[in-house]
Amino acid sequence: ARSTRMAVATEEEVAGRVVPLETVRNIGIAAHIDAGKTTTTERILLYTGITHKIGEVHEGTAVMDYMEQERERGITITSAATTCFWRNHQINIIDTPGHVDFTIEVERSMRVLDGAIAVFDAVSGVEPQSETVWRQADRYRVPRICFINKMDRVGADFFRCVDEIRKQLNAVPAVIQLPIGSESNFEGVIDLVNMEEVVWLGDEFGSKYERRPIRDSLKAQAQEWREKLIEAVAESDEKALEKYLEGQEFGVDELRALIRNGTCKIQFVPVLCGSAFKNKGVQTLLDAVVEYLPSPLDVEHVRGVSVDGEKEIYRATSDREPFSALAFKVLTDPFVGTLTFCRVYSGVIRKGDTVLNPTKNIKERIGRLLQMHADERKDIETARSGDIVAIAGLKDTTTGDTLCDVDNPVVLERMVFPEPVISVA
Ligand code: GDP
Repeated sequence: ARSTRMAVATEEEVAGRVVPLETVRNIGIAAHIDAGKTTTTERILLYTGITHKIGEVHEGTAVMDYMEQERERGITITSAATTCFWRNHQINIIDTPGHVDFTIEVERSMRVLDGAIAVFDAVSGVEPQSETVWRQADRYRVPRICFINKMDRVGADFFRCVDEIRKQLNAVPAVIQLPIGSESNFEGVIDLVNMEEVVWLGDEFGSKYERRPIRDSLKAQAQEWREKLIEAVAESDEKALEKYLEGQEFGVDELRALIRNGTCKIQFVPVLCGSAFKNKGVQTLLDAVVEYLPSPLDVEHVRGVSVDGEKEIYRATSDREPFSALAFKVLTDPFVGTLTFCRVYSGVIRKGDTVLNPTKNIKERIGRLLQMHADERKDIETARSGDIVAIAGLKDTTTGDTLCDVDNPVVLERMVFPEPVISVA
């Protein structure tokens, strides 16, 4: 093994990327305690595990078998980051602690996210702590989608929640799904982008659903909310506004692209609903993650400073740039020892490399590189820009430290977040 690393990726390494960056999603799930963050995460791992391991979700018996096995094993997510796959996308879920006491840790994890799912309880709506987490996500400019959970509960009120998201969180809710029924009659959603119904087929696990034309009795409501969705989109995009004012129609792909762009603008949030506990709406939530939350490429570059703090340094999100990463969590693993979870911003690192920790002014050697899945950990040879990776073997690196190429030092943590500037003309 090399003792010092190559400063930049070789052509071979650049060509060796298996997962294209535009199909990577680094996301967090943020919620008020009890809103259903754990249940939602578990269901996400369940459905992504099913599709990854046995293919199509609609294969009845295979799904049941798989779910039985999972139940026996008891899926638990204890890791700081978990990787799963959905529709040819790699989704890295980064754990965001849910308690107020961990505010600093929440901020640290916000820092490495490209997007988040904000989970709300359809009965209690926006609660004080949801506001705190929301502000933190604002501060770190994390694009979000909202999942109004627990639609099966007595007292569930989707529209009140949407109203609170607008008023209490100062967001522009772009409702892309309307519930069909609620409480024990919660049977599906109207997909306002495709203008069709998504109806669960009543099996206990909700793993099957069907897309159908919107029934006559719901057409007027669907039309009304489709109009509101287009208005929200038009508000966030000048060209869309022009088109809207001219009374032109929006195609499905165009509308999707506009929602995606809007989501990157922070105030604009797509809103979906479901019941994680009853396995309703989790698959369409995953579709929305892939469809609307940004990839690492949507963040053009990361900004850092030189070690003396004098000079700003920009690093593009690319394997060809010098390596830079931020450690966001250090855990002790019973099998591997110290695991340092890092977000790689630029360049590549390989097992055996020596890297610089400019924050502590020390060199560290990469023992192993690991990707964590719900039920296994996988050794990998190389980690690349945009990746979330667990490094084994680091001795003195702590949460918040930068790791970078020895010959190209940069400090990421001292990054200054621009406060929104309100200019008065
Ligand atoms: P967390 O604290 O946000 O992680 O919330 P949990 O996922 O632990 O959920 C809190 C409680 O709400 C648990 O008792 C769950 O079973 C329950 N729960 C979660 N999702 C739903 C749902 O969709 N419907 C109902 N009725 N209960 C739910």
